[in-house]
Amino acid sequence: MAKLTSRSEDYSKWYNELVVKADLAENSGVRGCMVIKPYGYAIWEKMRDELDRMFKETGHQNAYFPIFIPKSYFEAEEKNAEGFAKECAVVTHYRLKNDPENPGKLIVDPEAKLEEELIVRPTSEAIIWSTYKNWIQSYRDLPILINQWANVVRWEMRTRLFLRTAEFLWQEGHTAHATKQEAVEETEKMLEVYADFAERFMAVPVIKGIKTPSERFAGAEETYCIEAMMQDGKALQAGTSHFLGQNFAEAFDVKFTNKEGKMEHAWATSWGVSTRLMGALIMAHSDDHGLVLPPTLAPIQVVIVPIFKGEEQLNQINEVAFELQGKLKAKGISVKYDNDDQNKPGWKFAEYELKGVPVRIAMGARDLENKTVEIARRDNLTKEVRPLENIENYIEELLKTIQNDIYNKALSFRAENITEVNSYEEFKKVLEEKGGFISAHWDGTAEEEEQIKNETKATIRCIPLDAKAEEGVSLISGRPSNRRAIFAKAY
Ligand code: AMP
Repeated sequence: MAKLTSRSEDYSKWYNELVVKADLAENSGVRGCMVIKPYGYAIWEKMRDELDRMFKETGHQNAYFPIFIPKSYFEAEEKNAEGFAKECAVVTHYRLKNDPENPGKLIVDPEAKLEEELIVRPTSEAIIWSTYKNWIQSYRDLPILINQWANVVRWEMRTRLFLRTAEFLWQEGHTAHATKQEAVEETEKMLEVYADFAERFMAVPVIKGIKTPSERFAGAEETYCIEAMMQDGKALQAGTSHFLGQNFAEAFDVKFTNKEGKMEHAWATSWGVSTRLMGALIMAHSDDHGLVLPPTLAPIQVVIVPIFKGEEQLNQINEVAFELQGKLKAKGISVKYDNDDQNKPGWKFAEYELKGVPVRIAMGARDLENKTVEIARRDNLTKEVRPLENIENYIEELLKTIQNDIYNKALSFRAENITEVNSYEEFKKVLEEKGGFISAHWDGTAEEEEQIKNETKATIRCIPLDAKAEEGVSLISGRPSNRRAIFAKAY
């Protein structure tokens, strides 16, 4: 197997190679659209299942809305429409016919033109709020707490596997509330759910914050986000939660009678995470040998590899290995016993390293004699020989340790790569020489934000929710600022 390009050589190439070689996804014949392969999909399913559980625990239900949005619905909330217009796929016809001039070829049937064009959903506020109009009459109908698992299409010009694709899988929560306060609380609650998921399951530390007006979701009053640092120091927006105010209720005339008997527009939120999380997971932890997966999301948590000469030895190892496999399974650990005799142990070791299996157990003839096994950790590549007896308990604990260690490693890396600066000179120098996140004062204007972006390619990732009040002066205009924003180059 050809080695991966190393991260230090070319981070971006390393990422693309890894996604393909670890069998997670590949480019398809359709521009900007990927094929997610079974191993990649298995990780996504684990993410999805856990998030789904968390959404339900916080009172949400799943539902499903159409993939097509009539253009007139789409236009209703003007800011949302304007923001997404540039990247919409539009259905104009519903039929093809044989091309009379080119036998065997098809052309769009001009007689099958739709009266109203349909937009392939880039996000579903419009179709959902046009539906909520019929569902909401009284304060008793509220709140509506709905989530949808779906695919969406945004005609992105520069695409990367998982990180930015034209079609992607995601979930989108769309809630309706009787009061502003309740909607704001929901927005913040879902941001917490995302942060908790990222940290506890993906082992990726995130900064929770608020986007600047220019980075806000089109049609939102406030966009909250979680931002993660990748190993090259760049930022990745890992999830967003939007407070939509009454914008969509006004656009779709969704009114309810409140407790005082007065008519009011409903308050809205929407929140989403996508298959981009796969990119975050890969880029945050993996190394030059391949994937490093946190145990909670690894499709295979433990692999047992026999090392044998001849059938007799294999049979002996099989017996012990199957018993251990059973014990591990009984603890809810997903374990594969790879006794395929087509591939050599060395090949298997490299393969499971590439695939990011957190723990490898090797069993040879000598181990049988000594009643031991060799245990290798994928995250730090250490190996140790341990007694076979009660090894299942040790493995169970080891998986937890690995989960914590991966998180802590990412956390220390982030801490080392957030730099506070107090002048634009310093800002440019740090960005150039060290990269990472930069914490700096900003005067709150779109002009300064834009100038910094144009001159350095760094954008304001967010104003952290926990940013402490601190008097300072902004980088370029020198105007007073009372808290720092996080700047970085981003995916
Ligand atoms: P938004 O609706 O723009 O707030 O995005 C919701 C989530 O989808 C965010 O977590 C984004 O990071 C993610 N996302 C946005 N565009 C893409 C894309 N082209 N490919 C993958 N994920 C995306």
